[in-house]
Amino acid sequence: MFLIFGLRTSVKRSGVVAMVCPHCGNHAAQVITRRSTRFSVFFVPLIPIRTRYVRQCSFCGAEYGISKDEARSLPVG
Ligand SMILES: [Zn+2]
Repeated sequence: MFLIFGLRTSVKRSGVVAMVCPHCGNHAAQVITRRSTRFSVFFVPLIPIRTRYVRQCSFCGAEYGISKDEARSLPVG
């Protein structure tokens, strides 16, 4: 039997929120993205393995991993 499987990571932009960046200290837009890694068979993503949320400062580009609850509680617009 011939089987193609692998891992795929999809990046989805959840929204943008204006906050003070802990890195540069500027009140700038922070882009919230969701990165989910899934086990895929025949290029079809099936089983979610890991999901993480990342907040990136649009001013300095610093990235921070945030929790799911934190990502959901942000007033994303
Ligand atoms: Zn910053």
